[in-house]
Amino acid sequence: MTTVGGLSVAGRDCSVEVVKGSPATMIVSCGGEVFVVDPGHGEKRARQLARKLAGLQASRVVFLVTHYHSDHLNALAEGLLERLPEGVEAVVAAPRLDAPAVMDPVVRTALTFGYPLRHGSGLLLFKPLTVRVDLLVDAPGELGPLTLVPLPGHTPGQLGAIAPDGTLYAADAVFGDRVLNRYRAPYHLDPCRARETLEWLLREAGRRYTALQPSHGPRAEDSAIEEMLKANIDAVERLLEATMTAAREPVTAEQAAAKVIKSLEAPTDPGIAMLITNTVRGALACLEAEGRIEAKPQDAIITWKTVKA
Ligand SMILES: [Zn+2]
Repeated sequence: MTTVGGLSVAGRDCSVEVVKGSPATMIVSCGGEVFVVDPGHGEKRARQLARKLAGLQASRVVFLVTHYHSDHLNALAEGLLERLPEGVEAVVAAPRLDAPAVMDPVVRTALTFGYPLRHGSGLLLFKPLTVRVDLLVDAPGELGPLTLVPLPGHTPGQLGAIAPDGTLYAADAVFGDRVLNRYRAPYHLDPCRARETLEWLLREAGRRYTALQPSHGPRAEDSAIEEMLKANIDAVERLLEATMTAAREPVTAEQAAAKVIKSLEAPTDPGIAMLITNTVRGALACLEAEGRIEAKPQDAIITWKTVKA
């Protein structure tokens, strides 16, 4: 593995395309060099992208994984790298902080769910596959024509990529309405940092970027950007408030999560509930850091109690 600050393609014309899907994939093509942001998951997606890349006649493809979640990167291990035409150089880039969980599926599941779940566990929504990382990247920074911006919260090292046309691929820092309405409690490992990231995105809209492309949701421009960001801030705030309400009386993390799921009318199937439980753990931890919740260890149990509304 090597660390390179940037792969210069200055002075070349680039085209930007977003392949629809959940997640969407952003493709920035600059002459013979192509940048693919979040290839996604599934063998079908792997075949689709391999065909597209062959059509672009790239001699070098840089895959940028925005964070370690399986749905954003599995396609690389599901035939995408193998299907690239012979002679094409492939580079897999990942944020420095998230890279260990890209490479190691057990680190990934431990961080994502709070349990080091193994391949084959019925609790997992996606197969945890090993993906190689060739290049560690840092945000803020640059990767060829892409400007990388830090979007921590959803995962510690998540980054976004701004294309030359001003489109910010915002990964899972921002979700579309359908996802927010379906899951009620958007997944963030650290919801307080996720809220700070959303507020930063709100301040920088129209300055650093002109269009917002979430991984799971439609592209937003103009006033729709602010609308989408505010809906996400509201969802995170509802989650934090629900967590504080759940901890009015001392509760364990699991009890707090069950109350939050109930009060937000979030899905109760085990995989989703486990993700929400980890988000509530994140909320407990970050609210403790803000002095709004206190941990009360007693015997072998840790309970949490709201101390400052
Ligand atoms: Zn994610």
